[in-house]
This record gives sequence, structure tokens and C-alpha cells, in this order.
Amino acid sequence: MRKNVIAGNWKMYKTQMEASEFLQGFMPQLEDTLPDRDIILCVPYTDLFAMSQNLHGSSIRLGAQNVHWEAFGAYTGEISAPMLTEMGVRYVIVGHSERRQYFGETDETVNMRLKASQNAGLTPILCVGETKQQRDMNETESIICDQLKGGLANIDQTNLIIAYEPIWAIGTGDTCAAKEANQVIGLIRSQLKNADVSIQYGGSVKPDNVDEIMAQPEIDGALVGGASLQPDSFARIVNYQK
Ligand code: PEP
Repeated sequence: MRKNVIAGNWKMYKTQMEASEFLQGFMPQLEDTLPDRDIILCVPYTDLFAMSQNLHGSSIRLGAQNVHWEAFGAYTGEISAPMLTEMGVRYVIVGHSERRQYFGETDETVNMRLKASQNAGLTPILCVGETKQQRDMNETESIICDQLKGGLANIDQTNLIIAYEPIWAIGTGDTCAAKEANQVIGLIRSQLKNADVSIQYGGSVKPDNVDEIMAQPEIDGALVGGASLQPDSFARIVNYQK
């Protein structure tokens, strides 16, 4: 069965102290029982240890924002999947458009990171999405199919989340219309072998649009950047009403 999954992507924001302050504001606002949804915080590496201790015993799950494909080795500055799992991390974002745009991520490296994550017991959140130019040229479908084909080659689809993140909607306030996102996510689902994979929408999700997005039949959750940084706005998002 498909599960609803709301994940916050803190990007390169929040020191350990700021992360603790966030939790103090956020946790009391969580509704008591939200059994139909998983809530994940994908935080900077430097926050993981403290967050793992602070979240112990809570229903919030911990995620990282990237992972290397080797388990260990001479890769200065990198972090491996076993290093993450030992710290209580259960999820990892892979192939975010900012990694593809600024750090040379390709479908091939995405594929290696997905494999390494699953081998270590992490659930990867694979991000796919088109640029504005590609959308204007009606290339959305082919771009997304290519990203899925390359990224998911020989990947087990039972331990996987996908996020559809149109690049033109990330951090811009320019949300993709809920119906359009629903349509693209339907296309993504049609390309998968496993009908139970949860597929999120990401791109300027806010308290005032989350209910409409989550009401779409194909959309199983949200990957939230900017609005996950404030306790009040992220609490409203995870407490969405269908
Ligand atoms: C993201 O970083 O994945 C994202 C969707 O950002 P924002 O919500 O700020 O658009």
C-alpha cells in the first residue's frame, strides 16, 4: 500500500543549536495521531548526531541529503551509507536538482547512490524534474522518463520513494498547479514496476497549498524546502487535511 510521506529538506541551513530550537517549536504542534503519514527531516550532516538523540522515541524519522556510493575509502569530504545508518538515519535524498546543477550529479551517479543506500538499509528519496526551458519545449515527459530509466536501472523498487520536483518551482514560490503535478506523478507511476512506491511532489509547498496538493489522487506526499525551516509552517504542512 502507498504511504503518505512528508519530508523536510533543510538544505544548508541550521546549526545544531538552531536545529534544537526548531524541534522545541515544532514537536508540540504535531497532532497526536497521524498514523497515515510518515514525517522525515533531512538535515545537514553536522546536525545528524544531535537530531538522532533528540528524536529518539518520537515518530519523526531522520534523513540525510546525499550519500556516497562507496561504503568507505579515500574520498575526502564524503559520507557513506553505513556511516549514516549507524547514526540512526533511515532516509536519504538522492539526485536533488541542486546536486545535479551545482555538483555534477548524473543519472549514473544517482544510480550508484541509490544502490549503496538500499544495500545499507536506507530508503532513498529519488528526485526527478524538468527545468523551465524543458517544460516550455514540452520535454517534461521525456526528461523524466530518461531520469527514471537511468537512475532506476537495476534498482529494487520496494524500498524507494520518488519526489517529482519541477526545477522551476523549487524555491521560487511558483508552485506547479496541483492537477499538473498529479498528472506528471501519474506518468512517473506508469513507468515503475512497483505500484506501491510513494511519489511526492516538491516545489514551493506551503501551508496554504499543501491541502490541495495532498488531495490529488496520485500524490503521496511532499518534499518541502523553505517551508520546512520554520516550526509553525512545517507543523501546518505535516498536519495537512485531506
Ligand atoms: C526542495 O528543496 O526540495 C524544495 C522543494 O524546496 P522549496 O520547497 O523551497 O521549493
